[in-house]
Amino acid sequence: MSNSNIEKSFNLDRAVQHLADSIKIKTVSYPDYEKMDFKLFDEFLLFLEKTYPNINRVCKKELVSGYCPVYIWESQSNNNKPILLLGHYDVVPVEKDSEADWEEAPFSGTVKDDYIWGRGSLDDKNQVIAVMEAIEHLMSNDYTPDRDIYMVFGFDEEIGGMRGAEEAAKAFKERNIEFECVIDEGGCIITDMIEGLTVPAAIIGIAEKGSTNIKITVEGQGGHSSMPDRNTTIGTIAKIISNVENNPMPARLIMPVREMLRTMAPYMKENKFVLKNIDHLFPIINPVMAKNPLINALIRTTIAFTMTGGGDVPNVLPRKAWTVANLRILQGDSVDSTLEHIKKVNPGINFEIEKMLVEEPSEISSIDSESYKILGNIINEIYPEAVIIPYLMIGGTDSRKYLESCKNIYRFSAVILTKEDDAAIHSSNERISIINFHNMIRFYIRFLLRYQSE
Ligand SMILES: [Zn+2]
Repeated sequence: MSNSNIEKSFNLDRAVQHLADSIKIKTVSYPDYEKMDFKLFDEFLLFLEKTYPNINRVCKKELVSGYCPVYIWESQSNNNKPILLLGHYDVVPVEKDSEADWEEAPFSGTVKDDYIWGRGSLDDKNQVIAVMEAIEHLMSNDYTPDRDIYMVFGFDEEIGGMRGAEEAAKAFKERNIEFECVIDEGGCIITDMIEGLTVPAAIIGIAEKGSTNIKITVEGQGGHSSMPDRNTTIGTIAKIISNVENNPMPARLIMPVREMLRTMAPYMKENKFVLKNIDHLFPIINPVMAKNPLINALIRTTIAFTMTGGGDVPNVLPRKAWTVANLRILQGDSVDSTLEHIKKVNPGINFEIEKMLVEEPSEISSIDSESYKILGNIINEIYPEAVIIPYLMIGGTDSRKYLESCKNIYRFSAVILTKEDDAAIHSSNERISIINFHNMIRFYIRFLLRYQSE
């Protein structure tokens, strides 16, 4: 069958039903693994087994940490580097008091008005099901790949991916596997999210900032609050926070951000010249850029204080006070260099810093690789009007765990999202249009057809 007929013979109605069915299984992950209902995760895995008989017959299957499926579609030739397709099937919880905001119940998987509704429809069961649909369909059309195709679906991505992606990545590293490329969630096609941009932009995540949590503790004199010391522990914490907020980490223009701004330049209503020449102008204009929180996050390591605590009763001075900060670390900085900065801007103040969770920034994937070009070409086949733009992700994905097995990691789902769609992710009324879902499947079919054996 010709390549275009392979796509045409796809049964979309059945795929839509599969996504709807997958949403009905409440695979919610919680930071405390004990709280997760693993029976439902088993149910999801069984659902994949029943729904995709070709994949289950043809692929080698492994289960990492009990719930993270790894499918390996082995090819005849071992000369080409394999490809890794990622997704995750855990979803964030639906907050109790937000259920009433949903137009359709969050785990109903309702199909209505050309949309599939529910938690996970955009993040990230759409990706898991689209990958499975594409491969199942290619298998039933006698397509064979010219390299091994790996699929890994995380079950704890939303809580850090420590047991799923991290363990799978470890296993691949031990086997010395080097992937040609990794495709994960992340970017998409945006229409109204960048002010002044006059065309749709297909943004491909080529790097992720690091995300690290630290706890700062100050110890001092306790005692009765009727005779306070000049420096209370809570006062000192406040000083530290204020010093850090008034002295941000230095701004820097890294490759993904520079390329993003330069690629956007010709399509902007205003500031074309500035963006085109951002390399030269950055030292002058970065203070203005930093006024926008999103741009600020792209040009420096940010330090956000998210929790704080101290005493227990109104009239006792606490001996200890503390604050927790979330660091989002830009490429070129590290957890340690950020901690050095915090110390530097707080001279003469005694405090302890404890690292709670450490994640350094990712490597930056190339935009000159063959797989990046293929990605761009396919996106333009499906969305001819979209400009391909590389970008830096502020949030994290499972893909960063695979850095040691792959240089070309691209974070992109072939869906068009508006501001409104994007706001529904991790919130109420998450839904995906059937057209978007179909295009995701078409994207994977086309992508894999590029790696067809002779
Ligand atoms: Zn996700």
